[in-house]
Amino acid sequence: MNEEGNKLANILIVDDEKEIRSYLTDLLTENNFNVFTAGNGMKALEIIDKKKIDIVLADVVMPKMDGIALTRSIKEINPDIPVILMTAYASIEYAVESMKAGAADFISKPFKIKYALFIIKKVLETKRLKEKAKKTEYYKELSNIDALTSIHNYRFFKEMLENEIKRHKRYKRDLSFLLIDIDDFKSINDTYGHLTGDVVLKEIAELLDNTVRNSDLLARYGGEEFAVILPETSEKEALILGKRIVSVIENHKFKSVADEPIIKISVTVGLTSFPKNASNLIQLIENADQALYEGKRLGKNRITVF
Ligand code: GH3
Ligand code: MG
Ligand code: MG
Repeated sequence: MNEEGNKLANILIVDDEKEIRSYLTDLLTENNFNVFTAGNGMKALEIIDKKKIDIVLADVVMPKMDGIALTRSIKEINPDIPVILMTAYASIEYAVESMKAGAADFISKPFKIKYALFIIKKVLETKRLKEKAKKTEYYKELSNIDALTSIHNYRFFKEMLENEIKRHKRYKRDLSFLLIDIDDFKSINDTYGHLTGDVVLKEIAELLDNTVRNSDLLARYGGEEFAVILPETSEKEALILGKRIVSVIENHKFKSVADEPIIKISVTVGLTSFPKNASNLIQLIENADQALYEGKRLGKNRITVF
């Protein structure tokens, strides 16, 4: 015998005929389901409200609330509970109406046991896959890490920068900020392909990660842009780090996915500092952006101070 926890699912059978309820109860219990039963729609809704029901198997033709009305109510209460409808009148109209009400599938009575079980398991599997997809999406949302480069993403960066600015204002500490943009990255993609572009992005992220200090916060700011928050760091100190970054990238030997050497990869860095040049987050980023733009104009592969 199986333990409660090993059951496939909690299934609710809704049918006004007692014989059908007990027949289905036996069949589904034998097949490892945890079975609940209701003789009418209202009773079914009460059970759904109280118990954790995974799936509902409901008759279409029932007095007062029929299976289609019940399906609509269930979908309003909890759209994630799939409902399978059964009826002796296996007409296409019934099937269409069931689906419109939100039923997951349709079984005609009298049904073959194997077929009914197949439908129930298929609907449960679909439900499981949907839940899994939702979870993955949810965790991705919550994540602070950029999927390609494995460094912090923009979301996390923004949160941290806001925190640092608050801290800076409260304790009057130094705070510097670097914006790093890869030079002519479009032509790297165009020449060596997008895959190589991705590899270069990953490699640059790793080089940056090895160059900044542990107390600095490195993030992927945008497509081919990176940002570094340098707490407790004056403009003068940040300039030294920025220069090192420029030189590390310039001197690194990059290779394409086809193992050909990539002749020249460089970055341009914009630097700005609190409290010298900015008083809020937007201004800080704008200043760094402007310094970066000036560096591009002056010929790239350099650091420019706002
Ligand atoms: P500049 O020196 O002025 O910065 O020129 P640039 O070519 O680097 O700048 P531009 O903004 O024109 O192009 C940036 C390119 O970066 C375009 C875009 O396709 C590429 N890019 C952005 N994100 C990714 C990515 O995740 N992977 C790859 N392979 N390319 C990316
Ligand atoms: Mg750019
Ligand atoms: Mg660029």
